[in-house]
Amino acid sequence: MIFRQLFEPASSTYTYLIGCEQTGQAALIDPVLETVERDLGIIQEIGLKLACTVETHIHADHVTGAGRLRALSGSKAGFPLASGAEFIDFTIAEGTPVAIGELTLRPLYTPGHTDDHHAYFLEAVGSARLFTGDALLIEGCGRTDFQNGDAATLYRSVHEKIFALGDETLVYPAHDYNQRFVSSVGQEKARNPRLGGGKSVDEFVTIMAGLNLPRPKKIDVAVPANRRSGEIQTV
Ligand code: FE
Repeated sequence: MIFRQLFEPASSTYTYLIGCEQTGQAALIDPVLETVERDLGIIQEIGLKLACTVETHIHADHVTGAGRLRALSGSKAGFPLASGAEFIDFTIAEGTPVAIGELTLRPLYTPGHTDDHHAYFLEAVGSARLFTGDALLIEGCGRTDFQNGDAATLYRSVHEKIFALGDETLVYPAHDYNQRFVSSVGQEKARNPRLGGGKSVDEFVTIMAGLNLPRPKKIDVAVPANRRSGEIQTV
């Protein structure tokens, strides 16, 4: 397997490149519009072909690169069925694996940050990786105050779907704002100050209700664009 963790600094977003060496097929999880050319360059340099892009959810902080990547490379854009997104090539739901050559991404429905959110589990030789999107960040989590977010729902998603995986499962989040790259299920279960260390659902709901976060700067552009696979509406 070929694996790269790519970073977009304006929105502190991680895009993940997963490549199957046997077939030369590649996928990107959560590509960002501004880094489409860089990502395609890396894929070509490695000698892979971009088969598809997959989104963890409809993002509010950046526009997806899915539509532009499709236009440039012919990749197929996959979005959670629950997002209702248009101009997409396939829908994603728990129970329906996404094939990347001989590799398999298993979607886990993990609502709470948004109501369409999916994490992706990738089992490969010697490692299990979970791409947690904004459901679980390193010592943090995505906010729950817009896009039908709900703190109690997020708590259940993380505890029932993510913390149920093996402690050694590597956790790769969609964002990090402090130059951290990877964690593990065991580490977050023990140390996550919002969701780990035995915190109850009520404690978590209280923490999330007290965050008082500013409205994301790009939300009015990003959400409508992302519901159209990243095509920014000009009319
Ligand atoms: Fe998000």
